[in-house]
Amino acid sequence: MKKIAVLTSGGDAPGMNAAIRAVVRMGIHEGFEVVGINRGYEGLLESDFVALKRSSVSDILQRGGTILKTARSKEFLEQAGQERAAQILQANGIDALIVIGGDGSFKGAKRLNDLGIATIGIPGTIDNDLGYTDYTIGFYTAIETVMEAVSKLRDTSSSHGRMFVVEVMGRNCGDIALYAGLISGAENVIVPEVDYDMQAICHTIQAGQEKGKSHHIILLSEGVTDANEFTKELEETSGTPARLAVIGHLQRGGSPTAFDRLLGTRMGAWAVELLKDGKSGVAIGIRGNTLHYMEIDDAIAVRDRLNMDLYELADILAQ
Ligand code: ATP
Repeated sequence: MKKIAVLTSGGDAPGMNAAIRAVVRMGIHEGFEVVGINRGYEGLLESDFVALKRSSVSDILQRGGTILKTARSKEFLEQAGQERAAQILQANGIDALIVIGGDGSFKGAKRLNDLGIATIGIPGTIDNDLGYTDYTIGFYTAIETVMEAVSKLRDTSSSHGRMFVVEVMGRNCGDIALYAGLISGAENVIVPEVDYDMQAICHTIQAGQEKGKSHHIILLSEGVTDANEFTKELEETSGTPARLAVIGHLQRGGSPTAFDRLLGTRMGAWAVELLKDGKSGVAIGIRGNTLHYMEIDDAIAVRDRLNMDLYELADILAQ
């Protein structure tokens, strides 16, 4: 094996650049030629390649997003597109591919692996929605952003005696709401994995008011329900004015935190080592502080579960 490629795919996530940098520099250290593929599988199908040298990845550790850009490709979803992609890689002398992305990108990596391209998956998504790994690259930066936003909203909440519903990302995974809620002291955390009870929420609001609390912050995960309707219903049921704040794509951007830089760096470097050792068709994850790998199909099949201990802790500490 001489030439390896790297691409980023699906939603961008802070820390992807740290992973790209580690792939490139570890790759060169191990004697590989490293090629970047712009715009994920879409760019692969257009042969949008760029040679990556040590200097190509200078000064990117601190940058959010991905220098290789990212995209979603319809053509690649089809068998014919996957076969064409494998042929393009082979025609360019590329033996192996490192894919940084979420579960959809991993499925694509598995297809390419079955077509004879050695692939390794690195989990890059702010949602933390892959059950086989404790953390995905970008998650910690996203919760840091939510934490900062909530602390600003709390000033207004306290000053006006007004509730805030803060809608956060995560699709069907409540981790952003849960972790950000815990570290910002949100009064309620509402996640897709646990049914919510409007009456119980109103009781916490009332109990807080009786204790003289002037602020009330509710973190609502986007996968639960329509945030506008939820806020309206909350206001009507509780009789307390509420405002909705949608943080939206701000959660995707920004300079990666120390944790995400470290995670991207460790996973990127290890992906190269795994390829060198002849491993392929696997996804890298982290359990505790230890990197591990699993067959891509097995990794995707691990159900993502909410940490119920943390969920109960958030509830206890907020009262
Ligand atoms: P995120 O979690 O940030 O959305 P993702 O990797 O899950 O990231 P997707 O849009 O699901 O994002 O997938 C990215 C790309 O991977 C798709 O545009 C498509 O080209 C490819 N892909 C997705 N699902 C499959 C699949 N089942 N088979 C082959 N390729 C796939």
